[in-house]
Amino acid sequence: MMDHMEVFQTLGQNMRVLYDEPMADHTTFRVGGPADLMVIPENVEQLRQAIRLCRDASIPWYVIGNGSNLLVSDKGYRGVVIKICRNMDLIEKEEKGGRLRVRAGAGVLLATLARSVCDDGWTGFEFATGIPGTLGGGITMNAGAYGGEMSQILSGVTVFTAQGAIEEWPADRLELGYRKSRIQKEEAIALEAVMEFEKGDIGQIRETVRSLAAERRKKQPLEYPSAGSTFKRPEGYFAGKLIQDAGLKGYRVGGAQVSEKHSGFVINADHATAADIYQLMRDVGAIVYKKFGVRLEPEVRLLGEF
Ligand SMILES: Cc1cc2nc3c(=O)[nH]c(=O)nc-3n(C[C@H](O)[C@H](O)[C@H](O)COP(=O)(O)OP(=O)(O)OC[C@H]3O[C@@H](n4cnc5c(N)ncnc54)[C@H](O)[C@@H]3O)c2cc1C
Repeated sequence: MMDHMEVFQTLGQNMRVLYDEPMADHTTFRVGGPADLMVIPENVEQLRQAIRLCRDASIPWYVIGNGSNLLVSDKGYRGVVIKICRNMDLIEKEEKGGRLRVRAGAGVLLATLARSVCDDGWTGFEFATGIPGTLGGGITMNAGAYGGEMSQILSGVTVFTAQGAIEEWPADRLELGYRKSRIQKEEAIALEAVMEFEKGDIGQIRETVRSLAAERRKKQPLEYPSAGSTFKRPEGYFAGKLIQDAGLKGYRVGGAQVSEKHSGFVINADHATAADIYQLMRDVGAIVYKKFGVRLEPEVRLLGEF
């Protein structure tokens, strides 16, 4: 069996890799220590090779997109981070029977793809124009906003399963629920997705995109690093409102803060560490539970040791 160093060297000879790569440079929170190795595959074959080598040498691996829903430990990650963002990003569009069919790679940026669909006068993707993740991350999280979500537009996804097979999963096998999917549950990797859209009124589409962007600028602390909504919406409540009603607006731990603008966002206000953010999330969860008896579940995914 190859040891870790041999695996890293083999990967380095066969694809783009970065050693001791600071994860702060790959997350929108702008925190996180180094990953032992970051692999940036150009195609499915490279991805498959990276995973096979990791598996054979019992090296942990983790797939990320744009890191916009991710909190990585200050200690980093002892293993291989596989980044699919702006790589594996082919886009094919086909018009058929008055509908647009788009096949796109997991590494395509969601906002870029959504904008290009909207600009051509197709409706249904307006909701995603302000979500800063990749298509792969968006499918895995069933990302959504303002009444729209990925489940409404997906016809199917090509996945790399945890068993190493490439399979086509039609939409009804994706088990898309509120910020969850079968891909997440089964630790599969989204490779490509097919989406369908109907023709819309271009004026109306532009107006929707414009007003959603204005709404985000007005309500969300986009001027600070964050990972969007930190907690999931508990059934029957809004996380931001519970946090605000618990008196936690502006609450700080080190450089991390509950946003003054939107209590559902934890922001990196001033050189926060991942430990600051994590502790703040725990404090907020405990205080909200004590006051209202409601458990807040993080929407943000954690990577590394906390
Ligand atoms: C300012 C701001 C606003 C936001 N607004 C919204 C919003 O309105 N709605 C919303 O839903 N989210 C929102 N988010 C959160 C985030 O953008 C979404 O969850 C997005 O879908 C995450 O995509 P990503 O590529 O960044 O994934 P990452 O953060 O890199 O990863 C998130 C999870 O997905 C997994 N993953 C990523 N790519 C793949 C893949 N190809 N295959 C399998 N698993 C994968 C990772 O392992 C991880 O578990 C916001 C974030 C920010 C910073």
